[in-house]
Amino acid sequence: MHPTGKTPPVENALNGSKELTFEEVKNELYNRHHPSLTSLDIEVHAKTVHKIRTLKRKHNVVMLGHNYMEPLVFGLSDKDEQGDSLGLSMFAAKTEAQYLIFNGVPFMAETAKILSPNKTVLVADKTAGCSLADNFGAEDVRKLKELYPGAPVMIYVNSYADAKAESDICCTSANAAHIAKSMPGDTLIFVPDIFFAQNLEEELKEEKNVVYPGKDNTARGAVCEVHEKFTLSDLLAIRESFEIPKGHPKRKLYAHWECRPNVLKEADFYGSTSQIMKDIAARVEDNHLERAFVASECELTSNLAQEFPKVQFWTACSVRCSHMAKVRLDKIVNILEAIDSGEDLAEYEVTLDPAVIDKARLPIERMLEASV
Ligand code: SF4
Repeated sequence: MHPTGKTPPVENALNGSKELTFEEVKNELYNRHHPSLTSLDIEVHAKTVHKIRTLKRKHNVVMLGHNYMEPLVFGLSDKDEQGDSLGLSMFAAKTEAQYLIFNGVPFMAETAKILSPNKTVLVADKTAGCSLADNFGAEDVRKLKELYPGAPVMIYVNSYADAKAESDICCTSANAAHIAKSMPGDTLIFVPDIFFAQNLEEELKEEKNVVYPGKDNTARGAVCEVHEKFTLSDLLAIRESFEIPKGHPKRKLYAHWECRPNVLKEADFYGSTSQIMKDIAARVEDNHLERAFVASECELTSNLAQEFPKVQFWTACSVRCSHMAKVRLDKIVNILEAIDSGEDLAEYEVTLDPAVIDKARLPIERMLEASV
């Protein structure tokens, strides 16, 4: 609650195009009524948020905010700068801005760099990894191609540019099934996410032979360490504790594609982050959602709770991505201060070999063509 007991109105809370005073920024933060944003958070961080917004505007910086960012970081991005990694990269490519700050992990920023090679793409922490991308590279793709000669390789966007450069087509969790069906031949290699691959295999069992790391081979694959944490017994316990019985018309349990196959089977709805958000929005619109649990990164639920205040969301905030959590306000302000003072940006800039950019752009462009 605002210290005065009132929350003064602020025009268009997320509109970053208007210059705001420090007091207006603070009011804007209180006006969000974000369930996981406390007065202490606001009082401690409002000054930094104000500085970031001022410098962002001064230098015409596009600030991309992934859905898994904590609320204060997520809220730095305008509405059209928020979303999933591919959507953000596509948005960034259409803007005129020279500086892109990608509030996410480096593999996401690489995709932005591939689609905007002449722009300066910056991340708050270049050491932030990802259990999927870090444990799979170009060499692993080559090994699978040797094992299944002639089979096309579809790679999840959650991978580094060098692995994409060795692959035929990319996919997201929203379009994987559609893209897979569009590929020639009976067999498709899918990398690197093993659970996602098993879920896709089940979905396409009548249409494609999906092969992946660890399926009758010794190739290396990976799983998302966040979505891996949800087990079937967790979901059953959540159903019981939060009173979300299967088939309830207004209470739903959602799971992300990267979860285990038996978790997906138990969920009332599974899909990508954007598909889950769309389903929630549609149900809210029809007044058909009163309670929900989303088996995914905890901050996604925090941000959903702000967007859909009438829904009672239950969260599992022990399930956080430690890599995404490395993106913090104090690091973001450092980037903007470096831009402002003309300092060297090497500590933050994501760079790629131009030859890798050229090769990695092809599978992304093929995916975009196949998506329409
Ligand atoms: S949640 Fe974290 S570990 Fe999982 S795919 Fe995203 S960045 Fe990687």
